Amino acid sequence: MVLKIDSSALRANYHALATRSGQARAGAVVKAGGYGLGAGAVARILAEAGAEDFFVALASEVAPVRAAVGDAARVYVFAGHMEDCDPGSAIPMLNSAEQFFRDRAMRPGQPFGIQLDSGMNRLGMEPGEWAAIRDEALGQGPALIMSHLACADEPDHPMNAQQLRCFREMTDGVTAPRSLAATGGILLGPEYHFDVTRPGIGLYGGQPFAEAQPVVRLSLPVIQTREVLEGETVGYGNSWTAKSRTRVATVAAGYADGIHRALSSDGDAPRIALWAGDKACPVIGRVSMDLITADVSALPDVPPALDLLGPRQGIDAVADAIGTIGYEVLTSLGGRYERQFL
Ligand SMILES: *Cc1c(COP(=O)(O)O)cnc(C)c1O
Repeated sequence: MVLKIDSSALRANYHALATRSGQARAGAVVKAGGYGLGAGAVARILAEAGAEDFFVALASEVAPVRAAVGDAARVYVFAGHMEDCDPGSAIPMLNSAEQFFRDRAMRPGQPFGIQLDSGMNRLGMEPGEWAAIRDEALGQGPALIMSHLACADEPDHPMNAQQLRCFREMTDGVTAPRSLAATGGILLGPEYHFDVTRPGIGLYGGQPFAEAQPVVRLSLPVIQTREVLEGETVGYGNSWTAKSRTRVATVAAGYADGIHRALSSDGDAPRIALWAGDKACPVIGRVSMDLITADVSALPDVPPALDLLGPRQGIDAVADAIGTIGYEVLTSLGGRYERQFL
């Protein structure tokens, strides 16, 4: 089971998003193990491509990124400074007055950032809370002041302009570097860019960055093939029944590998295919824990592996089939794959 990661596509996506970021410095979001691809390896490639600002969700994610990018790069932690979790060499994005005072008491003189809530109501200081500590915080020279957009993947959503206005009101006049845009925000245009951008999914080949190059290829080894006769069934629950003689391939991967069980066929109607080059092999029957069955009748020869993710079917196509997003498809990919950087 090999998850192939195209380093040059990752680099190209970084350069494209850095260009789209205009005057702003493009950072890189490598939380959740680099969106499931391997935080250290991904961070090293992005550092070579020019990124100097790396973002993770939790302090526990800092070490592999730091080891990969060296001491000069900045690593920020979105969760801020939590009770038993010293951010170490990273820069905690402080999300509340309480976090601010705890961090400043425990890490005097060490770098910190501020996360503001401009309307998403998830992380960050509310305008009133910020106003109360603003002078004190600015006096200590925050490394970054940021906020996050709730609807940036919908360019026409009025929430975007509303959050932009709110962020401006909270930060006008500050000299510290500011950051508002993730992938979607970068595409909204220059007024959203400020000083540092925080692309994540677009680096890894996902929507809403339509021009992204695909980064992952997931090839699943065929471990057995068989003929199934008309009227025979395949897999758990007998959910798929052959209408005619069918050649079935069984591949070695399943929902334990992050290939969601909802990708099972809906009775006889497939929801997704595995690919042999340009030829689609519909997934039939249920996705099991470690196995998936596909109809390979259309193939003259069955190759040693079939692709779930590749040039013909990306993370967003798989996500669309089951009503989720490419982010979840990527970050679900489990620990059993060998990750090969090409
Ligand atoms: C995940 C995340 C990002 C990256 O978002 P993408 O949509 O993947 O580009 C940026 N900022 C914050 C605060 C995040 O949580």
